[in-house]
This record gives sequence, structure tokens and C-alpha cells, in this order.
Amino acid sequence: MKTSFTLSLAALATALSLTAARAADVVVGVSWSNFQEERWKTDEAAIKKALEAAGAKYISADAQSSASKQLSDVEALIAQGANALIILAQDSDAIGPAITKAQNEGIPVVGYDRLIENPYAYYITFDNKEVGRMQASEVLKLAPKGNYIFIKGSSADPNADFLFSGQMEVLKPHIDKGEIKNVGEAYTDSWLPANAQKNTEQFLTAAKNDVQAVVASNDGTAGGAVAALAAQGLAGSVPVSGQDADFAALNRIALGTQTVSVWKDSRELGRKAAEIALQLAKGTALDKVPGTTTFTGGPKRVAMNSTFLKPIPITRDNLGVIIEAGWAPKATVCQGV
Ligand code: BGC
Repeated sequence: MKTSFTLSLAALATALSLTAARAADVVVGVSWSNFQEERWKTDEAAIKKALEAAGAKYISADAQSSASKQLSDVEALIAQGANALIILAQDSDAIGPAITKAQNEGIPVVGYDRLIENPYAYYITFDNKEVGRMQASEVLKLAPKGNYIFIKGSSADPNADFLFSGQMEVLKPHIDKGEIKNVGEAYTDSWLPANAQKNTEQFLTAAKNDVQAVVASNDGTAGGAVAALAAQGLAGSVPVSGQDADFAALNRIALGTQTVSVWKDSRELGRKAAEIALQLAKGTALDKVPGTTTFTGGPKRVAMNSTFLKPIPITRDNLGVIIEAGWAPKATVCQGV
């Protein structure tokens, strides 16, 4: 009798420890800021795939570009049992109380793609300054001189300033020499293409269409800029940058109305973020996540545990790279060419 009781306790202990170690018990809540942007669907698929492979559960919410909705979204994800959160912040400052709440409840947070500094979340992203450098370098090749306009990202997203500072690293020497003139620079509220189009229209009007380049910070805003250029008969003759390798942008590159997109393989970013969320949920300390480096380049100079991935510029010359990588079908990229 005594023996069988001891055995069954041991069996129970083993079963319990097995259960605790299994990712099957982990629920990862993902809070998206603006799911309408094409790229996030790819990121989501990668996160889901990695979680499913580990037997963990995916739940999500989309803030639809509202910083206040995102706060209640995070609360709802916690109420639904999330043991780890992945947050794409709509507004890096406004998200603070949600991070505090999660951390008070012992729920680790991964800041996805965009910096969350106060309080800080594990930071996984691509090298955004490098994205900015790539955008400016490709445009500069085609427009070494002239009037430039800058269609920046959302002012609530720290990536907007990282990108702009990378762009300026490349262009400032030419601006200082007087070869390039900044004739218009504006943030794009919520990264919305319609706002980018409006800003581009205004800059074109102010410069009497004497514009030689548009440095747009992503493919959505590039689409808005190209629409504004097209209305003036300038699409195709003014170089335009972007990022994300959106299908429409790849097609514009093939057609010649956009110069460059920067490809950030978000299948990788999503997979890595999911894996990190699972590790944190199981108790791994932030600085013990394999491959973690320290980042101190945010506006508040907070030392953050982070993982950075490498972006790749895509122009007409290397469109094949993205087709061969299975990112976009050739027929879509080359439609109408
Ligand atoms: C991301 C870009 C994206 C933009 C708008 C940025 O934070 O890095 O890839 O295009 O947000 O959603």
C-alpha cells in the first residue's frame, strides 16, 4: 500500500513537471497596432506557425491605429489568459501602462519591431537605421543632386526617427555641399498612405513640381507618394524609396515607378519573436535569450535586451532574389511589365 502511494506521488510529480515544461500551456497574446498594413499578415503567419509547432496557443487583437484601443486590447489579452505578450506598439509612450500591468502580473513582453522603452520590453526588430541608409543610398544613385522630399513614418513610432537618421547619415554630406536640398519633410500620421499622398501633394505644389527625389519610409507611404507624383505626370521620373517588400511595391519596382523597397524577412522576425516569447514565458531571463545583444540607441537611452535582423535592399536589379526566396510570386511582381 505504502509503495503504491509513493509511486503514484512520483508519477504525479513527473506528470506535473512535464506539463510545466510543455509549451502547450503557454498562451501568447499578440497586440497588433495597424493590422491593415500588408506586412503584418506575414508576420502573423510566422508567429502562428512557430507557436503551433511548439503546441502553444495564439490569441490576438488589432488596435486599428488607436493607442487607447491598444491599452484595452492588452488588458483583454491578459484576461484571456496570455502568459506572454508580443506587442507592436501604436504609440511607444502611450503603451507604457499596458507594459506595467503585464509586468506586475509576471507576464513577459516582447516589443515587436518597434521600440518600447518605458518600461522596457525585450526588443526584436530589423536594423532600422540601416533600412534608412539603404533607402537613401538607392535614391541617391538616381538623383545625386536636386530637391528632395521626405515622407517620414508615424511620429508615435520610434522607427520613423531611426529611419530618418539613417537616411540623413547618407544624405547630409550632400546637403551640406549644397547638392541636395530638403524641400519638404513630414511625419505620416499612423503611417497611412492617404496622409502620405496628401503631404506629397502639398510639397509638390510648394516646389512647383521641381522635385528630384522622394524618400518615403515604407511601401505604404511610397504608394501614396507615387499616386501624388502620377497625378502630376511625374511617376517613373522621380525616384521613390520604401520598405517591406509589399507586393504592390515590388510591382511598382518592376514597372519603374518605385526605386527601392527594403526587404525585411518578417517570416524570420515572427518566428524568432514567437520563440523568444515562449522562452520568456517559461522563465528564461531577458538577457539569457540566445543571441541577445544590448541596445542603447533609443531616445531615452535605456539599455535594452535586443535581437536585430538584417534588411536587404530590393531594386529592379535583384527582384529575382525575392521571387526565389518564395516571398512573392513572379506573376504578381511582374504584372503588367
Ligand atoms: C515598420 C514598418 C511598417 C510601418 C508601418 C514600422 O514600424 O518597421 O515595416 O511599414 O511600421 O506599419
